[in-house]
Amino acid sequence: MAIDASRFAGKPWWQMPLATAAIRHADGAQRPGKGEHGGECQRIACDQGNARWFNQTNARYYCATCARTFNDISRRHGQAPLCELQL
Ligand SMILES: [Zn+2]
Repeated sequence: MAIDASRFAGKPWWQMPLATAAIRHADGAQRPGKGEHGGECQRIACDQGNARWFNQTNARYYCATCARTFNDISRRHGQAPLCELQL
C-alpha cells in the first residue's frame, strides 16, 4: 500500500504510519535513543530495539542482526569483527 508522505508533513514521526516514518527516518532524522546502548539500532534502515553490539569505529550500538552482517563482512575481508557484544 502506497502512503502519501505529504499528508504527514510537519508531524512527529510517532504520529506517522510506520512506512512513512521509515521514509522520514531514511532522510536522516536521528530518533532519540537511536544508536545508544539498549536503544534502537543505529543503522538507518533498521528499527530494531535492544541494540547492544558496539561498533568502535563510530561508538554507536547496533542490533544483533546488523552486527552479525557487519562482522560477516569483516571476516570475509580477513579483519577483526567490527562489532562486539556489550551486555
Ligand atoms: Zn539493526
